[in-house]
Amino acid sequence: MQSETDVLVVGGGVTGTAIARELSRYRLDVVLVEKAPDVCTGTSKANTALIHAGFNADPEKQKGRLNVRGNELYHERIQHELDVPIEWRGALVVATDESERPKLEELLEKGQRNGVDGLEILEREALLEKEPHLSDDAVAALWAPTAGIVNPFELTVGFANNAVENGASVELEAEVTDITETDDGFTVETAKGEIDAEIVINAAGLYSDEVSAMVGIDDFEITPRRGEYYLYDKQFEIDIDTTIFPVPTEVTKGIVVTPTDENNLLIGPNAQEIDDKRDKATTRQGLDKVLEGAKKTVPDLTKQDVIKEFAGLRPAIKETGDFRIQIEEEVPGFINAAGIQSPGLASAPATAELVVDLVEELTGDLEEDPTFDPNYSGPPKVRHMSHKERAALIEEDPRYGQIICRCETVTEGEIRDAINQPVPAQTVNAIKRRVRPGAGRCQGGFCGPRVIEILSEELDVPMTEIKLEEEGSELLTDEIKQPLLEKSREGSEVNADD
Ligand SMILES: Cc1cc2nc3c(=O)[nH]c(=O)nc-3n(C[C@H](O)[C@H](O)[C@H](O)COP(=O)(O)OP(=O)(O)OC[C@H]3O[C@@H](n4cnc5c(N)ncnc54)[C@H](O)[C@@H]3O)c2cc1C
Repeated sequence: MQSETDVLVVGGGVTGTAIARELSRYRLDVVLVEKAPDVCTGTSKANTALIHAGFNADPEKQKGRLNVRGNELYHERIQHELDVPIEWRGALVVATDESERPKLEELLEKGQRNGVDGLEILEREALLEKEPHLSDDAVAALWAPTAGIVNPFELTVGFANNAVENGASVELEAEVTDITETDDGFTVETAKGEIDAEIVINAAGLYSDEVSAMVGIDDFEITPRRGEYYLYDKQFEIDIDTTIFPVPTEVTKGIVVTPTDENNLLIGPNAQEIDDKRDKATTRQGLDKVLEGAKKTVPDLTKQDVIKEFAGLRPAIKETGDFRIQIEEEVPGFINAAGIQSPGLASAPATAELVVDLVEELTGDLEEDPTFDPNYSGPPKVRHMSHKERAALIEEDPRYGQIICRCETVTEGEIRDAINQPVPAQTVNAIKRRVRPGAGRCQGGFCGPRVIEILSEELDVPMTEIKLEEEGSELLTDEIKQPLLEKSREGSEVNADD
């Protein structure tokens, strides 16, 4: 690991990776350190994945302004530059009682003041034409066509890979344990050794209060706010095309019903403050609330065809209810990008833009690197290819013809590509985030052993060392039983003609 850098970013979530990528536009040495064995293992991996349009954004708050700018940047740049699934499905805020109509008008005006394009109120008939499964009680809705859905895993990995392609370093399993101020910056102690940095940017999510306290800035606290979800199988009979919100209250945006970028239906989240930053367990009570809340707008929903329940933790600063993105004046050179609760994903490109402005304020000047290339391409996605494209790819490399995950149609070639990316996938979940084996109906029941075997071959380590995610999550205690492996190896071949 390099021992000196201009800028060190702590945390490889969507915030830290977007910042590292934006900094890699300039002639700067940039190192990102992440404590986990992959990027996108914190809050960025468990959320609703919406690029909010910004109609409900509070312009008095950093999070409101960055949401609106972030949405613009996704439209203008990110969707063209990074090979990341983004779908502009639009959002509906559905009133299920006439008494809620004034709130729709209020959101419309607020959104227009925020500069959100295309907002309109749809009456019942037009609304049901768009979403036939909506409640009979639906009376009208605010329609926001600029809202989108993004794949948060591929987005974070895309930011990180593009940053590395442009000269930044990403150090995994490098937890920051202490930071000391020096004459010309900081010495940062990590699990992989010390790094001297002129500027430190704290994007440590749920732990950003603890990292900030390492330099004596301890006047804020992160409270984890849990949100739970049900994820449905793609074959679920209720087909929803847009993101559906109920009318928000002062306290909550309400339970959302939305497709994901891969067309699974997702419902959630609730919001519950908890004490333990590691507690991502779902609860019966919480999930019951999620289903009950979702049925307010889509009453036919049931638990049938649910393939996964999960929870994510919002890293909230309760006192302000806002992001804290600022140069900490008492510790020159230290920038907090802390308390990035929702809409942190929608804001990420704008957060990165703001942080670069702060770095420029500290350095006085930033010189653009003319070799910077904003474009990044991930591995080919065989399941989205035409027959002709598949055939050509298989001709080039037959491993793209070997299906490992039958639920999601993921091939051996794609899995090997994921392991060999600039920020390599080194765990079973890291592969799942990049190319989806295990994300389908069987949740890895069939393909899991083959994924472990491929990881073991590519990383040249025994299968017993292959982890699901973090340290201590090794999946096998002994070499896998051969018959099971043989069975999963049978796989099936991509039919280039189907
Ligand atoms: C239920 C829920 C729903 C949401 N829905 C949306 C939505 O639809 N749209 C939207 O815009 N936003 C949404 N959000 C918010 C969004 O997910 C977050 O704002 C965003 O993911 C935060 O990213 P981050 O990079 O700041 O934090 P994280 O993703 O948590 O990344 C922080 C990283 O820092 C690392 N780290 C911590 N401590 C250290 C250390 N000491 N050394 C090294 N590394 C360290 C962690 O391992 C982690 O990888 C939602 C959040 C939740 C929980």
